[in-house]
Amino acid sequence: TIWNLGSINADLVYDVPHLPGPGETLAASGMSRGLGGKGANMSVAAARAGGRVAHVGAVGADGQWMVQRLLEYGVDTRFIGEVDAVSGHAIIAVDTSGENLIIIHGGANRAISMDLVGRALAQAEAGDLFVTQNETNAQAEAARMARDLGLRVAYAAAPFDRDEVQAVLPLLDLLVLNEVEAQQLEAATGLAPDALPVADVIVTLGARGCRWYGAEGARDFPAFKVTPVDTTGAGDTFTGYVIAGIDRGLPMPQAIAQAMRAAAIMVTRHGTADVIPDLKDVQEAQF
Ligand code: ADP
Repeated sequence: TIWNLGSINADLVYDVPHLPGPGETLAASGMSRGLGGKGANMSVAAARAGGRVAHVGAVGADGQWMVQRLLEYGVDTRFIGEVDAVSGHAIIAVDTSGENLIIIHGGANRAISMDLVGRALAQAEAGDLFVTQNETNAQAEAARMARDLGLRVAYAAAPFDRDEVQAVLPLLDLLVLNEVEAQQLEAATGLAPDALPVADVIVTLGARGCRWYGAEGARDFPAFKVTPVDTTGAGDTFTGYVIAGIDRGLPMPQAIAQAMRAAAIMVTRHGTADVIPDLKDVQEAQF
């Protein structure tokens, strides 16, 4: 089982003629609401990849539709608590040229209790995978608990937070970061990816693919060639698929290859959690 301590966000997307300036009030010509948040995206990706996933997190009273949707996507939602806060959400304005402006409010995602984490991990078995990112509270404390219970610990350093990443770094078996986060981590610690005290490190490189640093050194994986329309969620889809592959016992190169196929499909689709491809789409895709 994969235990994902992660954010759950409503992505509220507004179509606007131009991005609003200071003091401006602007009417949207359209609006859509989807499930997002790095944590939820990863849970959905890992479930779509065939993994057994339990999401650990929190929503407010306004967020039960998101819990329901995660359930529909095959995620175990028993450890998503309801707290006295507004649900996490992102207000996204998109203009006619596709340029966007995003405001994120963590809300309930920052009010996850260690009691809930403890109740979830009490159900875990040694060898299970624990995964987390930076859009919640309690990452380091939960990662330590998971490690003490004999789980393997994976972490996506997104969005980058210098203190958070340094707190979890000694606890990790797998670290996934994008190129910018890798630079930020090197600036913060003085350590390049190949010098980090983590068994497996994957640096994703957008349209250039990714580089894996493992026991046998570094290995490059070129990306599949697609025409991107929306790169939102590509990294989360990649991470969710890698985790599911590892959980299934795939060797890392195979887990990465499958994750890159899934992420390549993802960038050809608009939206986030609701459009993450399933394993069948990934296996049948022709690039
Ligand atoms: P993030 O979204 O976290 O910034 P990246 O942009 O590095 O992460 O993308 C994650 C993965 O998604 C890449 O390693 C790659 O496999 C895939 N990907 C991203 N952009 C493209 C693209 N334009 N074409 C093909 N694959 C892509």
